[in-house]
Amino acid sequence: MSEFKIALAGNPNVGKSTVFNALTGLRQHTGNWTGKTVELCRGAYSYQGNSFTLTDLPGTYSLKSYSEEEAVAARALEETSYDCVILVLDAGALERNLGLALEVLCIAPHAVVCLNLSDEAREKGLEINHKELSRLLQVPVIPCCARKKQGLKSLAAAVLAVCEDPKQVNSFYQRFDCADSASAVLLRGACKSIAAHCVRRLRDDRKSLRDRRIDKLVTSRATGIPLMLVLCGVLFWLTAVGANLPSALLSRFFEALKRELSALCEMAAMPKFLSGILIDGVYTTLSWVVAVMLPPMAIFFPLFSLMEDAGYLPRIAFNLDRFFAKCGAHGKQSLCMMMGIGCNACGVTGCRIIENRRERLIAVLTNSFMPCNGRLPILIALISIFFANASLGPMASFKVAAILVVILTCCVGVTLGVSKLLSAWLKKEQTSGFMLELPPYRRPPIVKTLTRSFLDRTLRVLGRAAAVAAPAGAVIWLFANIKIGNSSVLQVCTDFLDPFGRFLGLDGVILMALLLGFPANETVIPLIIMGYTANGVMTDFAGYGELAALLTQNGWTAATAVCMIIITVLHFPCSTTCLTVKKETGSLKWTLLSMAIPTVCGVVCCAVTSHVMRLFL
Ligand code: GDP
Repeated sequence: MSEFKIALAGNPNVGKSTVFNALTGLRQHTGNWTGKTVELCRGAYSYQGNSFTLTDLPGTYSLKSYSEEEAVAARALEETSYDCVILVLDAGALERNLGLALEVLCIAPHAVVCLNLSDEAREKGLEINHKELSRLLQVPVIPCCARKKQGLKSLAAAVLAVCEDPKQVNSFYQRFDCADSASAVLLRGACKSIAAHCVRRLRDDRKSLRDRRIDKLVTSRATGIPLMLVLCGVLFWLTAVGANLPSALLSRFFEALKRELSALCEMAAMPKFLSGILIDGVYTTLSWVVAVMLPPMAIFFPLFSLMEDAGYLPRIAFNLDRFFAKCGAHGKQSLCMMMGIGCNACGVTGCRIIENRRERLIAVLTNSFMPCNGRLPILIALISIFFANASLGPMASFKVAAILVVILTCCVGVTLGVSKLLSAWLKKEQTSGFMLELPPYRRPPIVKTLTRSFLDRTLRVLGRAAAVAAPAGAVIWLFANIKIGNSSVLQVCTDFLDPFGRFLGLDGVILMALLLGFPANETVIPLIIMGYTANGVMTDFAGYGELAALLTQNGWTAATAVCMIIITVLHFPCSTTCLTVKKETGSLKWTLLSMAIPTVCGVVCCAVTSHVMRLFL
């Protein structure tokens, strides 16, 4: 029994994560777009009694260290002596994929080629002579279809064979120095002739033709953006309409359970203080977070993942690129923004796909302008209550979706505006060109994508929210029940914040909830509810109706809802995102700025909006 070190290298979007996951049984994020894996990821597997540690290098086109991914991949290959490198190549784009492969073969003596996406190559009418390819490179070449787990056993066997017999080195090893430009020209020539030798076209490429036809519609100036808005609207509509019923059912279930639990506490003669913290604090906040967040997330995330897997996200980036370029930012920023809709911390990490430091910083600082999944349910609740009639029939859901699209468009507008200001302010470094590969459209593996995205994204985000919501519920209950004189601590704090809150068209309770919601925005609404209920106990909640009544009793009008929507979108990001910004930028200054910029924007927008509305309403 031996232990071997294996690296996985390849261009972006060739199925590396799929191969990695299939071999190791882990669940690395997969998606049909370039540049989503930006850090080294490790996993292990065993085969025939031997253990293998597998390092997934970031997907790159070359090892020339122009971008962070290339630098990371090149460093890893140079510094670690791997027993074998698995080169994952797209069988349908062999010539281009050989560029990186030959560079790797020059520095890594032992390798196996995983000729992935063989099914797509066949669809494109291509036949690859893998035996000839193996002879030319002097490495085993295994045709695979990683998504269907085809060829992976042979791959593992070939890797073991190479590891066990290290005498045989590949035919390119140490023959060229990739940093040298004369060698680069020779290598390019080699790619061309190897591909010409090994690839045969059997028939026309109908798939690429179809892709080009779809792209004409999806990325053209006239139809690209309207189509994007419509798709966004449909996504939100499905989320709003689909989440309504399960949300109400869950709330009713939690209410009933609460009554039982309270009765149980009484029977057990539990001290009021303890049952207060546990039932009115922890349980009630938790059940709100689950009832209000789970249904929209369980619909939104999987649908979003389907769009991602089908290859639509890079098209959005392509459509938005000219706007970003005008603002001195990078088109790939729109991809980070879309990741931000799921979770801003992920969005900030995703900014690594932008090579240029200045553009990357702009993307990091503006990511929280996209409402993350902790904030989307707040927006849906407020729009439903104040602008779409809380009963939520299909027509009202349509209205909710339309308003959300408008809000999201405004978010993109604010992102662009602030990016422009930042790019003028930050020292002008050279801006990088936009090189984003538009991947082929792929029919996503529907069931797998839906279950993965539910398990990986929805439950993970919900788990994080719940982990924060439970202690937050206890703390807020204590705040609401510990008295200073006649008033509770919460009352004292909200009274203190009230004048400033009113100036912004909000009130002290809302500001307090936003501050206490710093660990997780999901808790903002339960915090507001607790703030309004005098005894620190959340009222019965069985749908938006009760919430609507509570808010209006406490002086909320449509104008308050507008300001609340503004401040929900525009305020400091949650603590996890802030920590991520600190990690990514390594600077406290930029972290504080990433909190200050949206907050200042929000305060200014709220103050102006509320004063203008007061003039007219
Ligand atoms: P990476 O960027 O190289 O890590 O690529 P991923 O593993 O994320 O895969 C990119 C896309 O290709 C995903 O939508 C996968 O489901 C899909 N994919 C991966 N392997 C195959 C395959 O062998 N055939 C087909 N048709 N699709 C695949």
